[in-house]
Amino acid sequence: MKKENVLKSCYSVLRRTTPLSFDCGKICNGKCCKGDEKTGMLLFPGEEKLIDPDINVIETDNGYKLAVCSGNCDRNKRPLACRIYPLFPLASEDGEVNVIFDFRADCPLSKGEYEFNRSFIKAVRRVGKYLLLNEETSQYYKELCHIQNEQIEIFKKFI
Ligand code: SF4
Ligand code: SF4
Repeated sequence: MKKENVLKSCYSVLRRTTPLSFDCGKICNGKCCKGDEKTGMLLFPGEEKLIDPDINVIETDNGYKLAVCSGNCDRNKRPLACRIYPLFPLASEDGEVNVIFDFRADCPLSKGEYEFNRSFIKAVRRVGKYLLLNEETSQYYKELCHIQNEQIEIFKKFI
């Protein structure tokens, strides 16, 4: 599958679901959309052509593309990273996908006080499966999984 189509499929599967049964932005006043000009959401390969053109795209020193916004965007054209936040579909070597809390997320939902919508968890898992369907996307996604796994290992040393 072409990488653009992989991303469109991911967007589509997340279209009708949200993390909670109500707008979680009400809990924290939309904290995850209040970054600064140095904070951004990682973009998947080719995603810069699909997102809201008002979102600034910068490249990091290690070649990652970051979407840096002003705190507002066309919801239908927000990056995939914003759509799955604060969860992450962690793929194993054999292609199994488990949905975890993204270790990078600074989000009040990490405290476990709210129950995630099952449809949201299911959609995030499906996103993980889709991301494996294109070689370039899959390679990049596996790098992100590797980073998550490294952090999990570090975390285990402290518990
Ligand atoms: S995902 Fe987390 S940080 Fe973002 S609006 Fe919802 S509760 Fe707030
Ligand atoms: S791109 Fe949109 S959804 Fe993502 S952080 Fe910015 S305002 Fe929020």
